[in-house]
Amino acid sequence: MSRKAIIAGNWKMNNTIAQTKELVTALIPLVKDAECDVVICTPYTDLATAVELTRGTNIKVGAENVHWAEKGAFTGEISANMLVELGVEYVIIGHSERRQYFGETDQTVNMRAKAALAAGLKPIICVGETLEEREAGKVEEVLVRQTTAAFEGIEKEALDNIVIAYEPVWAIGTGRTATAEVANDTIKIIRDTMAKLYCPKCAENRVRIQYGGSMNAKNASELMAMEQIDGGLIGGASLKAEDFSKVVHF
Ligand code: PEP
Repeated sequence: MSRKAIIAGNWKMNNTIAQTKELVTALIPLVKDAECDVVICTPYTDLATAVELTRGTNIKVGAENVHWAEKGAFTGEISANMLVELGVEYVIIGHSERRQYFGETDQTVNMRAKAALAAGLKPIICVGETLEEREAGKVEEVLVRQTTAAFEGIEKEALDNIVIAYEPVWAIGTGRTATAEVANDTIKIIRDTMAKLYCPKCAENRVRIQYGGSMNAKNASELMAMEQIDGGLIGGASLKAEDFSKVVHF
């Protein structure tokens, strides 16, 4: 298997510039020997500081969202080119909090992903079912729908630059982690979907799929030992340098 692990922090709406300086400065020496790719996704206001501080290190910086248009009358939004100009490399797209609170749909996720790729950003595309959907036996239906829609019109060549994050909504910020087996089996559904959309070899070798949902220093090694899990998208545990570095060194 040739998929390199990728651990990404999602700071959500946390950290001022001063706090960013403190956290990133503490993090740099703790993760400098990491064997996986290390990414921190920060609020827009912290991006320039994070990029500046991590220059020349193994930490890459990501944003938490991006708009699909190049520019225009979209008050409050940020374009892909604006992020690229800042030195940002990754961007989270379709996080469940965006879908739940800000009207993000499968279609807007797809539009944002295409715009990000066109500008040279690497999207971390989030998919995942709610508790109701899991209890109603709709996990496969939901994940196939979300994945198929997110990748509509995206060429095979782009796969190396895309990460998928499987984030069961019921596990995000709740302290309720999916068991390693459930996470692994569910990610397999996504990988099989990618095999159908592209090709089995592409899905096996070129599609990195993270797990996200209350992943932390304690459960990271068990999750990361699973065949299908290529990394983690880390919320709460990415806000303290030591906690995040322990996940990075799973
Ligand atoms: C997330 O925000 O993507 C996430 C997984 O959060 P947490 O780790 O806090 O559950």
